[in-house]
Amino acid sequence: MINCKTNLPIISAEGFKDKVCPICSSANFQVSHKYISENAVFFDKYVYTCYDCSFSWGSGIEQEKLDRFYEECFDKEVYKRSELYLSPEKYFSEPDKQNKSMRSRQHLEWVKKYCPKKSHINVLDIGAGLGTTLYYATQYFDKPILYAYENDTNGIKYLEYLGAKVISGDLIKSLKSTKKNKFDLIVCSHFLEHVSPHSVKEFVAVLRELLHDDGILIVEVPHDDLVKFPERKTEAPPHVMFFSINSLQVLFDNYKLHLLLPIRKELNARYGFLKKIISPLFIKIFSFRNVHPVRRGRCLLMIAGKKL
Ligand SMILES: [Zn+2]
Repeated sequence: MINCKTNLPIISAEGFKDKVCPICSSANFQVSHKYISENAVFFDKYVYTCYDCSFSWGSGIEQEKLDRFYEECFDKEVYKRSELYLSPEKYFSEPDKQNKSMRSRQHLEWVKKYCPKKSHINVLDIGAGLGTTLYYATQYFDKPILYAYENDTNGIKYLEYLGAKVISGDLIKSLKSTKKNKFDLIVCSHFLEHVSPHSVKEFVAVLRELLHDDGILIVEVPHDDLVKFPERKTEAPPHVMFFSINSLQVLFDNYKLHLLLPIRKELNARYGFLKKIISPLFIKIFSFRNVHPVRRGRCLLMIAGKKL
């Protein structure tokens, strides 16, 4: 068990020093800031910024600790979804009260254009949360087979209610163990920034292995280029990776996951009124023109496949 409120550091940041940037391997990086957190996973840990690819990362935070943090602490300390949302039965029958459902539908609008198969597809949502995207996948695709990676025990109740096959535990090992299932669609929405920078390359390699040859990967992350936007620095966990457009592209290029269209700057779903009122209009107006609404640019959206 992780003690969610402890001052005991697991690894002191002073005893841990990265030698190169985890994305571009440059040694041209510096300390950006330090986390302010009582949680043992983040306590006394520093964030570094690479000045070659504008990637920033929390140093010395291992994947194993993060897996347990999401299982035991995330709902209590960060998001409190178990208090904020209705029971699974009500949650899926009241779409207006779902968590970021507009974002889920935006993503599915896009991937549907690129997925060659429209029925019986294997969909894997990594960091599936309450299952909103998987729920809508059943409306955008005919009889999809749903898989979810999730460690939050509250989220797992919702995913099981949907009938998704739930994968949890060690991020790399548990996903690797599903290797016999290849996926037509892998969704990684606001998950990558929660992966340990020390495991991210292995994670992307696993994504590639899990993807069908003509499968589609969709990734959305916060646009946290801290060189360009220093005001986006935050001392509060739990994000451990902070992407610029360049660093996101370099990471996936290294694993031969090819972009199907340039990385897009998206609205941040937390702008509630914009999301609810303006975004649906933009989707309707622009989607048939193959142009996506670009506004505040707080998120980066990437759609990739194995083949060009
Ligand atoms: Zn770098």
